[in-house]
Amino acid sequence: MSANEKLMGRIVRHRAMMIQVENGVMEELVQQLGQVRKEALDKLVAASNEPLTKKGVESLVEEIRIDLTLAREDMTATLKDRLAEAFTAEEELAMTVFRGAVPMVVAKATNYQALALKRIDDILKMPVAGVSYEQAIANMFDRLGGQIDKLAQKAFAEGFQEALYSGKTMAQARGAGWAAAEKLQSNLGAARELFDKAVRKDLETIVHGHYQATIDKAQTSVYQQNRKLLQGVVFTATLDHKTCPICGALDGTVYWMDGIPEGEEGDVFERKPALPIHPHCRCTYAPIVKAFKSLPIDDSKFSKASQKLLDGDIPKPDRYDAWFAKQSGTVQRDILGAGRYDLWKSGSVDLADLSKNGQVLTLDQLRGK
Ligand SMILES: [Zn+2]
Repeated sequence: MSANEKLMGRIVRHRAMMIQVENGVMEELVQQLGQVRKEALDKLVAASNEPLTKKGVESLVEEIRIDLTLAREDMTATLKDRLAEAFTAEEELAMTVFRGAVPMVVAKATNYQALALKRIDDILKMPVAGVSYEQAIANMFDRLGGQIDKLAQKAFAEGFQEALYSGKTMAQARGAGWAAAEKLQSNLGAARELFDKAVRKDLETIVHGHYQATIDKAQTSVYQQNRKLLQGVVFTATLDHKTCPICGALDGTVYWMDGIPEGEEGDVFERKPALPIHPHCRCTYAPIVKAFKSLPIDDSKFSKASQKLLDGDIPKPDRYDAWFAKQSGTVQRDILGAGRYDLWKSGSVDLADLSKNGQVLTLDQLRGK
């Protein structure tokens, strides 16, 4: 196995491992919000056992809103800390993975200087898919707040005010078989669903997206510092049933450090697409070391063994189309969706036709081809 193959294997395993770390951070945030969820629901339940007043319901909504604001601040601060930790850890890890996979004489020639905290702070603030992590969390809470308003309004609109004016509690109203009381009950159920499912889904996108962007930028910083040792980096998609056609099309693309060599494809390092390519993208870039003859290191320092390890090969693992062809029809249909699958199966489109400039084409666009 060449040094470059080893490097790619390790970087891909490292990426897979980071997803576990990201899941841990997500759970931490879910827990933080879980406390607010519990308090909000307790308040709603308690309120439904009190004689209802319009003012009471309004102040309840206001209380929940304040709780949500505090939770938003806490969660934003936690995510910021975790991302900053991830950046610093990733700079070191990327360097460790690199040094561990190449012969000692190359490892000794590497540069590593961690970025200043202020600079990391600025990098973390950069938007991912057009939204900063702060804004993403704020948006999530806006959606939550809006939903809670809607639940409160719904309770009123659905005849809840009858209970208000009669001075009954929700429990009494329920006893009398009021449809409004039943509705409020099901709205409470909806609120639970909202917190449990919608929030988790939102957080998954936010945490994975910003983590991947952070890791990508930390690695980019390390590779830039060592560009003299590298031919470039190669886009490496995680090939499984979740791989989308966009990442599949980019898989194996090389981004060169010193301009695109004659007869080669790809692009320059500076123009490599920032990760994530799309929500829940799990791709990564693997660095490719130059052949020992092209390294800015005295030739004679390379043993026969390390010369063999460093032949400047560009590992091309299982490419997406080859991988895709090996999957069952069910898996293929699952990945592409029925409409695209039929077009692909009939031979009207190739896998590479399914996306353009990082966007999956619509069925209409594909049929127009
Ligand atoms: Zn991807």
